[in-house]
This record gives sequence, structure tokens and C-alpha cells, in this order.
Amino acid sequence: MTNLHLPKLTPTTLVDGLGRHISYLRLSVTDRCDFRCVYCMAEDMTFLPRNEVLSADELYRLADVFVTAGINKIRITGGEPLIRPGIVDLCARISALPGLQELVLTTNGSHLSTLAAPLAAAGVSRINVSLDSLKADRFQAITRHGKLDHVLAGLDAAKTTGFNKVKINTVVLAGRNEDEVVDLVRYAIKQGFDISFIEEMPLGDVGRARAENFYASSQIRADLAQHFRLEESDYQSGGPARYVALTDHPQTRIGFISPHSNNFCGSCNRLRMTANGRLLMCLGHEGSVDFRSLLHQHPNDSRPVLNALHQALQHKPKQHEFVVDELQVVRFMNATGG
Ligand code: SAM
Ligand code: SF4
Repeated sequence: MTNLHLPKLTPTTLVDGLGRHISYLRLSVTDRCDFRCVYCMAEDMTFLPRNEVLSADELYRLADVFVTAGINKIRITGGEPLIRPGIVDLCARISALPGLQELVLTTNGSHLSTLAAPLAAAGVSRINVSLDSLKADRFQAITRHGKLDHVLAGLDAAKTTGFNKVKINTVVLAGRNEDEVVDLVRYAIKQGFDISFIEEMPLGDVGRARAENFYASSQIRADLAQHFRLEESDYQSGGPARYVALTDHPQTRIGFISPHSNNFCGSCNRLRMTANGRLLMCLGHEGSVDFRSLLHQHPNDSRPVLNALHQALQHKPKQHEFVVDELQVVRFMNATGG
């Protein structure tokens, strides 16, 4: 790995054209994955040629520019970030950037049993782990390739590793796993984890009509209210989730990410960088800026990269326009950097 000796940039703050403060970057380190979750990917996928994926040095350089620009939280994501070779070293480099307050990561958990401790040591302070079912056969059907026992072992390792917080992410699909929301909350309580329930977003053609499986956050909340005492909470994790507290289990918070039933765009503070260096201003829009080309055009000076970021932000859309049963964005979630 090379050390980058580029002219120093002047720190700035990031404000978009609508006055929203932008402080959070989701950085995708690969579009590949060892799972093929039914809501995220089609069965047969074509991935980026490896030579188009950002190198570790390019990822680090972009993180450096974005933190200087005013980003204080980076989430490493993908695809599955833990299948990228060198991921622990990359996390260690990025977490050491002055000005970065939090390095966090989202994973499917398949490699967490061995990587939880090295990641925590590398400065990853919180992790989100996707878990859609506690039934092995169902888990395999939803992920197409996943092994539940590997992920649960990963979660056990994460629990004892010293992350500030572990959060479960569950995409809830009617007819697939909506009957498990209570059991998943019980599991989160037992482990001392938070849990967020996500409404499926229409990203990419996954070979079925998504409306058939739509299950609203409000319905999940009603299901949970029959088993737990729920309280409003003003807790913010810096992402799109809205939280409720459990009166009898204060260590576990329940989040709802509700792109359909509760639009979160007004408070959006996020940007996404795809694995091939395209900066997406919004999950629900196709517009992007090619930062990989900018890095190549300016190998010894990051100022044009910083300027391009400020310019791009003036075009960040007001909101996504997801409709449950329409395919509006051709990009799959794994290509987006979820
Ligand atoms: N592979 C990692 C994982 O699964 O956690 C990180 C990348 S994944 C794209 C990030 C998150 O996006 C996961 O929690 C996943 O459940 C969610 N996701 C993927 N496709 C989605 C979709 N179409 N709608 C809503 N959430 C989705
Ligand atoms: Fe892979 Fe995550 Fe997409 Fe599932 S949600 S296919 S684990 S990238």
C-alpha cells in the first residue's frame, strides 16, 4: 500500500443546494457478494470487471477528500464488504483519518466470526448485520446461498468483540418473513442488539413484482405492539431509521426504515460512492458523477476532486420517488452501496 503525499486541502463543510448538511458517506468497496438475497439481486448477476473497481489507494484517497470536505461518518458497504481482500487494512487506514468521527460497516455476517475482532481493532466502531430469518431453511431461501449458523456465529463474535453497538437489519417481505418480526426482536433483546426493519425498495429487476411482498413499517409496529411495550424515541443514529424504544428492554432500540410509508428525504445527510467510483447523490435517482475518472485525471492534486464534490452537491435531488410496484431505478442495491 502506498502512502499518498498530495498537497494539503483546506477543510470545508458540505451543504447541498437545498441547505441540507451532508456529513455521511456510504462507501462501497465491492459490488460482489457471496449471497444473492431475493430483494437485492437477481439469481444471475453480472458484476463489474475487477479493473474497474476502485483500488484500496483510490478508496483511501476518496475517503480522505470527503472527510476533509466535511464528512464525519463513513459506512463501508457493498456488495459484501468482508469478501474484499485487504478490507481490515483499508478500515484501519480510513479510521485513522483526522476529522472522521465514526467508521461503521454493514455486512451479511458470513465472514464475521473471523473478522469481527480484527475489524474492531481496525477502528470500526459499530456494525450492521443483515438477518432476515432465524429459520435455517427460510434464511437460505431468502439469501439463496446463506448459511444461518455462520451468520449467527458471526453475530456472537461481534457481541463479545467490543463494538459500541451491533444492529440487525431485516428487510420484511409479506409471505416470506413478516411472521418473524417478534422473534427477531426477542433475539435482538437477548443479544443486546438494536434492530431495524426495512421496507423493500424497488432497485433493479429481481424477477418478481415487489408490490406482492410489500409489508409496511406501520404494520410491523402494530404487530410488535401486541407483544412489547413500545415508546416513542428521539434517538438518531445519523441514518434514515426512525426509532421506538422498548419500555422493558432499554438496551434494544427498534428502527424503521420506511422509504414508502415515511419519506426520510427532508433530513437526508448522505452520499453514496459505488464500487467503481460513481458518486450517487440519491438512492432513488440515476444521476451520478464519475470520481474514479477524476482521480485518474488528477493523480497528484485532490483539489479538483474536492471542487467536483461541492459542485455535485448543488444537484442533490430533493427526494426519491419510489412507488412500491414500479421499477424506477435500474441499478441493483449491491451496485448502489446499500
Ligand atoms: N452485503 C451487506 C448486507 O447485506 O448487509 C451490505 C450491503 S446490502 C446492499 C446493505 C443493506 O441493504 C442490507 O441490510 C440489505 O438488507 C439492504 N437491501 C438490499 N436490497 C434492498 C432492497 N431492494 N430494499 C431494501 N433494502 C435492501
Ligand atoms: Fe449480498 Fe447484502 Fe445484497 Fe444480500 S443484501 S445480496 S448480502 S449485497
